[in-house]
Amino acid sequence: MKRVDLHLHTTHSDGSYAPAELIRYCKLKHLDCVAVTDHDTMSSFGECQEEAHTQGIELVPGVEISAQFAPGTLHVLGYFVSSEHHELKYVLEDVQRARRERNPKIVQKLNEAGIEITLAEVIQETYGQTEIPPGKQLGRPHFANVLVTKGVVRDQEEAFCKYLAKGKSAYVDKRRVRKEEAIRLIHEAGGVASLAHPVQMRLSAEDLEKEVDYLVNCGLQGIEVYSSCHRPEDIKLYLKLAKRFRLVATGGSDFHGANKPDVEIGCMGKGVHLGYEVIEALKSRILKNR
Ligand code: AMP
Ligand code: ZN
Ligand code: FE
Ligand code: FE
Repeated sequence: MKRVDLHLHTTHSDGSYAPAELIRYCKLKHLDCVAVTDHDTMSSFGECQEEAHTQGIELVPGVEISAQFAPGTLHVLGYFVSSEHHELKYVLEDVQRARRERNPKIVQKLNEAGIEITLAEVIQETYGQTEIPPGKQLGRPHFANVLVTKGVVRDQEEAFCKYLAKGKSAYVDKRRVRKEEAIRLIHEAGGVASLAHPVQMRLSAEDLEKEVDYLVNCGLQGIEVYSSCHRPEDIKLYLKLAKRFRLVATGGSDFHGANKPDVEIGCMGKGVHLGYEVIEALKSRILKNR
């Protein structure tokens, strides 16, 4: 049976594996078909594609867009999207620009909290050079690492709990796309939009069903049923929603390497592995969308 994982991150967002390195790791772990879904960017696609070709792995062009939402988080996965689609590219670049503008604000807030830290330090510690490399980003986990190195906190978790988490003194919100826009952009870029890790939306089963109904009307065609953060009862509920709204039941580990050490690549719950049927279902949607 072919093995599939449709939710992976590289160093182009908050994963710890560089693009080619990640693809080689997929090969090592016997995955046959994968999607790299960095947050709000497709800048790792070229490098992943090249290595996937070398390794004989099928690579699905992917992205994970962070949308505006409360009470939890709403991420929309895009599969088989064209990284060259004008509007998608423009919006993703705009999100990246806003992210760069956010970094000095985080530094300022940390300074105000009495911590001596500069942006230059964070960039140097993260990338070993003075500039953020093209296509790469800086995020809260990188700031957390520097706080650990400086001995301000013991570990990443404490850095978030004390300073970086939502509501804490150094928290700065980031630009997020509207959920309707995220789905529309993915659709217009030739892809299939799937609702990432619904458990993180923090909705009751009833509210989730209403939300999914709305998102389907916006063009949603998939739901991430299988994820490393889903319990068996979550999976059962999301499978029911997939059937009810005729959504493709996608799945992925949400692998971030050392930045989420408990998550293993290819694993989306105890004993759950995803097969190639999901790829066929996605491809058939794309043919119908045309
Ligand atoms: P950013 O995109 O810069 O806001 O950072 C988001 C990333 O921070 C997430 O993908 C997580 O990896 C990490 N993160 C968010 N909240 C926490 C937390 N409470 N503890 C540890 N890591 C977190
Ligand atoms: Zn992430
Ligand atoms: Fe996510
Ligand atoms: Fe993710």
